[in-house]
Amino acid sequence: MKFGGTSVADAAAFENVARIVAAQRNASPVVVVSAMSGVTDSLLAATTIASLEGTFRRHEAAARELLTHAKAEEFVEHVNNAAQRIAQLLEALSAEPTRKATQDSIVAFGETLSSALLAEVLNERGVAARQVDARRCIITNDDYTCAAPLMAETFSHSQQELRPFLETGVVPVLGGFIGATLSGATTTLGRGGSDYTAAIIGAALSASEIQIWTDVTGVLTADPRVVPEAQTIERLSYSEAAELAYFGAKVLHPKTIQPAIESSIPVRICNSRAPEERGTLVGPETETSPRTVKAIAHKSGVTTVQITSARMLGAYGFLRALFEVFEKHRTVVDVVTTSEVSVSLSLDDAERLPEIVQELEVLGTVRVEKGRAIVCVVGEGLRGTPGIAGKVFSTISDINVSLISQGASSINFTFAVEEARVNEAVRRLHEEFFSH
Ligand code: ADP
Ligand code: ASP
Ligand code: MG
Repeated sequence: MKFGGTSVADAAAFENVARIVAAQRNASPVVVVSAMSGVTDSLLAATTIASLEGTFRRHEAAARELLTHAKAEEFVEHVNNAAQRIAQLLEALSAEPTRKATQDSIVAFGETLSSALLAEVLNERGVAARQVDARRCIITNDDYTCAAPLMAETFSHSQQELRPFLETGVVPVLGGFIGATLSGATTTLGRGGSDYTAAIIGAALSASEIQIWTDVTGVLTADPRVVPEAQTIERLSYSEAAELAYFGAKVLHPKTIQPAIESSIPVRICNSRAPEERGTLVGPETETSPRTVKAIAHKSGVTTVQITSARMLGAYGFLRALFEVFEKHRTVVDVVTTSEVSVSLSLDDAERLPEIVQELEVLGTVRVEKGRAIVCVVGEGLRGTPGIAGKVFSTISDINVSLISQGASSINFTFAVEEARVNEAVRRLHEEFFSH
């Protein structure tokens, strides 16, 4: 059971989580929790300890409201120790090359504190629980701020740490998002990574279900911030959910689905404010029909790059040379389309763009467009349903579209538009595909 930041935003939210966990205690749950909402942002933005005063007071206020006096004082002591340690780390923050490692050690306190508090709240509500340091379970490489778990080590450590609790009826409570290298240095899995922690732990323990508890009732047919009338999707296939998460549906971290698929564990997305609703169930394809268009995802802040070169014609090795540039600069390429003389692609992270462009110019003429957005129509129903492209383009015929691609899985239809018009495009497509 993973609870996101809004599910532990304040004392009332913690109380609610305790009720949801208590209701499932007979199923031997493991709880994974995010930092209180906004805390990760504050820790990342902090340059002085004074700027975190409000963050620490929020934790203390929640503890005093939730816990008996003695336990609350114990937790306040815990917060004070964290503050002291964070102050030291902030002083070390300016030192390269350890900056990212220091950043991870600072930001990990968000989840350390929320998990300590939640474990205490559960205990006081009569659910035997124990905080487990996620760094003893999630073992990663040293790619600080976006570390990759070493799965074999993570599985064996997680089993060793967590099984004894489950066997004695104690609910383990872990902070999501954080891990450690084999030598014990704190790492994080990337923003929104608590979902991923939950999926990894679920897979390691062969859980019967991985539950993602958030502030909306499941995965919706579009981002509710753009399309307020978006509806809950009852069932999604693993591939549909993976495509949606990858192309911008923030409700699931893009890597969440992989560990679940490998262990065939269903993933349920539920609303911690409406626990009686069934939310969305993600599982194998055969169980997730009907085959229709299920949702529209989008993400902004995308950069597209086009490389045009006559040298591509009939040449081998050209694409390898091109992609090697991105590999060298450790930049992930999302959508790719090619013609005989050009390659277009999209990037989320344009931090290394100047260096990349410089090297690509050796291969051909390079055109960069910033401020683009990707729109992605997803559904098993796209397989073999004619006319989807026509329907999309006639619906938004006055909006310029580029990078059109039907993903290799053929369950997504993806294209890029100008960022300023993406909300309008998504609203019109949602109306076209879902209002009938
Ligand atoms: P948590 O803190 O619980 O991890 P997130 O903020 O990361 O929650 O994710 C939930 C949010 O994702 C929702 O509040 C919603 O605004 C956003 N979202 C974007 N696209 C979708 C979608 N297709 N379905 C549901 N939520 C979406
Ligand atoms: N607290 C982390 C973040 O805000 C991880 C998470 O909530 O999933 O990115
Ligand atoms: Mg999230």
